Amino acid sequence: MKKIMILLVLLSSLVLGSDVVFYHTYDDGEYSTEGFIDNGIVVDGIDNDWIYNNSFESFTAIAMIKPYSTAQGYIMHKDKMFLLQNYKGNLQAGIYRNGISWTPLFTVPVSVDTNEWNFVAFSWNNSNGIYTTCLNNECWNGDTSYSTINNNYPITIGERRAALWGSYRRFNGAIDETGLFSDAKSVDEIIIIKEKLDLGLHYLADDEPIIEPEEPLELRIDYNFDSGALQSYEINGDDVRLWLFSDPQGNAYNLHFNITNCTNRTVNFEIMNEVEWDYTEDTESPTQLVYSCGNGWNRLTDTIEQSGIYRFSHAFECNNAEISTVFAYSMENINKRIDYMHFHPLTQVETLGDNNAGANIRKIIISDTSITTDKNKVYMIARQHPGETHGSFLMDGMMDEILSNPELTQNIEWHFVPSMNPIGIGLGYTRSDEFGNDLNRQWEETTSWQVNAVKDDLASVGYGIDLFIDSHGLAHGQDYMKLLSFTETSIGTNLYNDQQGLVTMLDENTFFNYFVESGVYTPMARSHFISTYGGIGLSFEPGQHNTSMTIAKLEEEGANIAITIGDYFGVSIPPEPEPMFQVIMNGIVIYETPNAGVEITIGEDYTFMPTTSDIITFQVT
Ligand SMILES: [Zn+2]
Repeated sequence: MKKIMILLVLLSSLVLGSDVVFYHTYDDGEYSTEGFIDNGIVVDGIDNDWIYNNSFESFTAIAMIKPYSTAQGYIMHKDKMFLLQNYKGNLQAGIYRNGISWTPLFTVPVSVDTNEWNFVAFSWNNSNGIYTTCLNNECWNGDTSYSTINNNYPITIGERRAALWGSYRRFNGAIDETGLFSDAKSVDEIIIIKEKLDLGLHYLADDEPIIEPEEPLELRIDYNFDSGALQSYEINGDDVRLWLFSDPQGNAYNLHFNITNCTNRTVNFEIMNEVEWDYTEDTESPTQLVYSCGNGWNRLTDTIEQSGIYRFSHAFECNNAEISTVFAYSMENINKRIDYMHFHPLTQVETLGDNNAGANIRKIIISDTSITTDKNKVYMIARQHPGETHGSFLMDGMMDEILSNPELTQNIEWHFVPSMNPIGIGLGYTRSDEFGNDLNRQWEETTSWQVNAVKDDLASVGYGIDLFIDSHGLAHGQDYMKLLSFTETSIGTNLYNDQQGLVTMLDENTFFNYFVESGVYTPMARSHFISTYGGIGLSFEPGQHNTSMTIAKLEEEGANIAITIGDYFGVSIPPEPEPMFQVIMNGIVIYETPNAGVEITIGEDYTFMPTTSDIITFQVT
């Protein structure tokens, strides 16, 4: 171990060209003490977190930290890859040896200042095992023969993941100006980053100019990414004209693109071919697109529809915004979610089929395999129609609920196919697959590789499937929550009675409020299932047009569906104890927890998991 004392020398320029994500933990300026790091922040690439590249070998993690105590707590953590923590008042850096077992590499011999801002950094060079740990103006180098490639987990800031480790280990204090680079920075390079932070230049990636240009940069539009959907555009100052994109079947519902250099300017958009837009057909509620600045979706509410042109304007608070018809859910996010769930002990992941060119259909089975008695079987598919992302969030809510209530896995075996149409999703299509097929009309006789993969799997799971669900979202302008079932004449009295038993419970326990019965039409998935296997077959279609809908609401409804299905099959879940709280003066809220280990949500954004039954005080911002 050699120790290197660093004199602060600001070099004039540096070209690195690495990927970087700066996670500006709080919004209100430099080294903020607002907020409360007890919540932790998970940067997992889902819901448009500020993740730039979650897949790398070498890396450099930096942050400004202000510990409130010497308590042990994680500053930054990527499961099975690396962590940087406050270890009883000292900065400690480590990696996971061979991506599995935790190996502390270095504990800085100088104490971290409590209640002061400290610069911390940890870099790792995977090709030669050299690592660097920095605290304020000093850095230390070392080397090891360990390797640490494991990109299957998200990065967390301020905690570690309880789902994997059984408990959180939270950082007690404030964290800001977090940066993660996909290469190993040298000591000199790290110190330059610190210098930039000291100068208040905390958002700068290395390939961006240090001095803000006086003239605003030209707006930029990009739609050439996973699930992007736009035909073409024209930019003229702050005015943007857009032309909608149709899938090979001629459906133009999806619109999904990024706009850059939009910070602090009002951008006026015009959709020139609105007449082709399925989204504004049969409109029952206002047509509002959604946008994201990297931290959840909001509505674009300033709209005018006139003479076949749909106009909307927005003053952006961020420099790079994502705009979409619906809450976007890309193929990359689906794959990450499946990879992540793979590590839960109650899940298995199977590949049902592929197109011989890298795309595949995967299935998640959730079941307590230690219980070998016959189980009820539920089989659910989503995204036959790529643009109907609401079906994905519903499925996510179900899977999360099942994993947090193991009772639901004891007498039910759950099969989830999150993506029936992987290529269509990647291409930003509305309803069709890469060959122009509507998959939900392909179930009778088909050459569709996607449908054949799932049909084969249904046959191998066998006749014991009790319930089949096809998860969609309503296109066009409907804003109701639709649940499709079958008429008594089409499926016979016995199955109809079973179906109505479940539908009645779903009516009571979920937001589905618009029930449609139809006859069996075997080119469609649930009809194929009913006519072949004879179980209950339903289709969920939340209204994607509903402007009060949120991802949280969809996931909550997914949870309610899972609990209701459990209830239908005789599983009762004990109610969770309600956290008690009281509001006292000056915006200070005291939460008194009835018992440790019960997650508490404050507002929409903050959750925390108390580890003791202490009273915890927060400043509400
Ligand atoms: Zn659909």
